[in-house]
Amino acid sequence: MSFLVIDANTHFGFLPHRDTDVSVDRLLASMKELGVASALTYSLKGVSYDASEGNDETYAVTRANPKLRPVATVDPRRHIGVVEEIEKRKEQGFVALRLFPEVQGWSINSALTKPIILTLARLHMPLIVSGAGSGTPTNVLRAVENAEIPVILTGVGYFNLAEALEVCKEHPSVYLEAQIIDPPDSLRVAVDAVGAERIVFGSNHPSCSMRASLNLIAESGLSNREKSLIFSGNVRRIFSRVKFPEDTLLSLDMPFQGIPVIDIHGHWGKWPFPMRGTGVDFTLDLMKSRGISKCILSSSYAIVYDFVDGNEQMAQAIEGHSELLGYVTVNPNYYEASCKELEKYAKKPNFVGAKIHPGYCKVPINAPRTKLLVRKVQEYGLPLLIHTYGAGGPAQAAELARECPACPIIMGHGGADAWREAAEFARDVKNLYMEFCCSVLETGKVRRSIEIAGADKVMFGSDIDLLHPGFIAGVYEEAGLTQEEKEKVLYKNASAVFGIQP
Ligand SMILES: [Zn+2]
Repeated sequence: MSFLVIDANTHFGFLPHRDTDVSVDRLLASMKELGVASALTYSLKGVSYDASEGNDETYAVTRANPKLRPVATVDPRRHIGVVEEIEKRKEQGFVALRLFPEVQGWSINSALTKPIILTLARLHMPLIVSGAGSGTPTNVLRAVENAEIPVILTGVGYFNLAEALEVCKEHPSVYLEAQIIDPPDSLRVAVDAVGAERIVFGSNHPSCSMRASLNLIAESGLSNREKSLIFSGNVRRIFSRVKFPEDTLLSLDMPFQGIPVIDIHGHWGKWPFPMRGTGVDFTLDLMKSRGISKCILSSSYAIVYDFVDGNEQMAQAIEGHSELLGYVTVNPNYYEASCKELEKYAKKPNFVGAKIHPGYCKVPINAPRTKLLVRKVQEYGLPLLIHTYGAGGPAQAAELARECPACPIIMGHGGADAWREAAEFARDVKNLYMEFCCSVLETGKVRRSIEIAGADKVMFGSDIDLLHPGFIAGVYEEAGLTQEEKEKVLYKNASAVFGIQP
C-alpha cells in the first residue's frame, strides 16, 4: 500500500547555533526523494528574529512552491500588533499559527497567551505548539481549554507521552505530532489510548531526519488505515478548507537490504514509559524486521538500579539465543563488585563488552574512579560502551580513551547534539568510536561524522528496545553510504572491535 504523506512540522531558514542546511531547497529535495506530497512550513526568521518579516518570507516561499502550505507565527514578547499580525496572515491564507514559547522564553500559560487564543478561536485557526517537556502538554491544555480550536502538540517523546495522552483524553481537539514517539510500540499504545485520529505525521525537517520519522510510522505495525490517518488523513480533516497536492506517494527505498547488521547498542529490561513490548522475543522480532543479525544488549535494570542482579537476570534471559550478546554493566561507585562482575562475565563467550552509564551512577566519564575501573575493563580485553549525551561528554570520553589506549571505547549516542565534537575526537583518538541512537536525529549527522572521523569509526546502534530500530536506521539510510561504507558501519567495524561474526 502506498501512502499520501503531509508533513505537519517543517521549517526553513538559517540556524545560528549549528551549520545544518535548513534551506527551502533542502526541504523540497527531501520531500521529492521520499515522496512526501505536501508540508506545512514556517520561516525560522520569524521565530528567532522578527515574526512579521518571517511571515513575509513564509508567504513568499509557499506562494512560489505549490507543495508548501504557510504557517504563521507571532512573538508575544513584542506586545505591539500581535493580534493584527494573526488577522493579516489569516487573510493571506496562512493555515495555522505556531507559537514558540520554548525558544523565545515565555510561558504558554501566562497572560500573554489569552488574546492569541481568543483570536485563533474567532478566526477558526488551528494552533501548533511544542509539547516537549514534563508539564508542557498540561500547560497547553490549560491555555486552550475553553477555545474550540484544533491544537497540534509537536515534539512529544517517550518521557512525557503518558501526560500527552491524558491531555488528549481531556480535550477532544488536541493532536499529537509523531516525530519522536519513538519506542518500538508506543504508537500502538497511543493509538489504543486515544485513536489513530489523534496523531499526525511531522518530521521537524530539515533540522531533523525526515526519513527517520517516516520509517517510524511505516514500521509501526499499525494497520494501513491507521497509518493513512497519521500520514495525511488527520491533517486533511483538521485543515478541511485547505487543498493539499495529491500527486506524490511515499517511496522508501531499502538501501541496507542484503547487508548483515550488528547492532551494538541494545537493552534488556523495563522502561517506565508507555510501551508494552519487552523481553527477548520482542527484541528478536524487532531485529528480524530490520535485518539485525546480532545485537549487543545491556540490562536497563543493571544501569538504573542493581548492576549485579541486573547482569545476572539478563545473562539468564539471553542464554541460548545466539543472536543476543551481552555487555556486563559496571558501576564506578562499586569498584570491587565491578571487578567481580568483569571476572565473572569476561569468561562467558556471549558477553563481549562492558557498559558504563555515567548519567545513572552520577560519576563523570573522566573521573578518577571511572578511569580506574576502565583500566580493569582494558585488562580483560573488553570494549566499552559509554553513554555520552551533550557537550563535554565526548571530550571526557576522549580523555578516558587516551588513558586506556588498548580499550576500544564507543561513545553511545555519539554525543547526541554534541556529535560534531564526538566525531572530531573519534578522528583524533585511535581507540574512540561512535554510534548514533538518539531521539534527536539531526539531519546529516551520519554523513558528516563519516566525513570528519572516517567510516572506520562509526557503528550502528539502535537503543533497542527503548527505541524503534527503524527510526534510528533512518538517519543512517539518509546518509547515502557507499557499499564499502555500509559494510563498515553496519557490521565490519563492530565485528573487528568486538571479535564477533554478523
Ligand atoms: Zn541505551
